[in-house]
Amino acid sequence: MICGKRRGVAHCCGMHGRYFDLSPGGVAWGMESALDYHSARALLAWQIELGATDAICDAPVNRYELEARQPKPTARQAEEPPPKPKEVDPVEVARDIARGVRDLAGLKAALAQFEHCDLRKGARNLVFSDGKPGARVMVIGEAPGRDEDLEGRPFVGRAGQLLDRMLAAIGLSRQDNVYITNVLPWRPPQNRDPLPAEIAMMTPFLERHVALANPDILIAMGNISCDALMGKRGITRLRGTWGEAWGKPVMPMFHPAYLLRQPLQKRAAWSDLLDIKSRLDAG
Ligand code: URA
Repeated sequence: MICGKRRGVAHCCGMHGRYFDLSPGGVAWGMESALDYHSARALLAWQIELGATDAICDAPVNRYELEARQPKPTARQAEEPPPKPKEVDPVEVARDIARGVRDLAGLKAALAQFEHCDLRKGARNLVFSDGKPGARVMVIGEAPGRDEDLEGRPFVGRAGQLLDRMLAAIGLSRQDNVYITNVLPWRPPQNRDPLPAEIAMMTPFLERHVALANPDILIAMGNISCDALMGKRGITRLRGTWGEAWGKPVMPMFHPAYLLRQPLQKRAAWSDLLDIKSRLDAG
């Protein structure tokens, strides 16, 4: 039963279908019984005491009748599946989010909240970056491995130690003048290769990362990094030749993890490092 008062008229509608006119001097009446003014007023006071606060309509409503009058769904309507939730494109979502980020801290926070990459669910830590933001050199690796996942910093395992030695050979270090990140901020399960969809949805964040860190040159470590930065794979062919990504020069190099397995290729890496040094020295 829903009750209330409005413009001097008090109503009691619903199950009992009873209502009262309490206008001053008016004659109270109802569907089931006529009431005098004082009885109706007493009834109203009782309903207010029960908690009624508002009139909801000017006439009584029999909810049982209303229900019976509702049109039944047609057989076709009953068969139709409910509309599917709108599918989102994670790359578009990533682009929108990355565009709105103003600094590196904001980018890290945005990545931590990005829900469309399942790698996040299996990772212990978000691996965002290490080294000096604003350094002239930015190294871009592939994805965190076990050690990086545990520590939350890129290139801290064996490959990372080799990377540090390679950089030191040309006077660079993450403590002083190198900034380091990866294409993916989460470890793929069992260190599997990142999927094309994962690379695609992380690339807008990487592009924004490069813009915010604003290095003079990028070093792309291995195929995944070359793919994200330049849309190209084939590191044996690409390495040693400057490319370009988002307006910055890119040096593709063999990944340090590959160099650990193929030490003879360190000669090629050394040549690439010298090329990087002379570009930096040239200003
Ligand atoms: N390999 C990468 O590409 N990145 C890391 O952070 C560690 C290993």
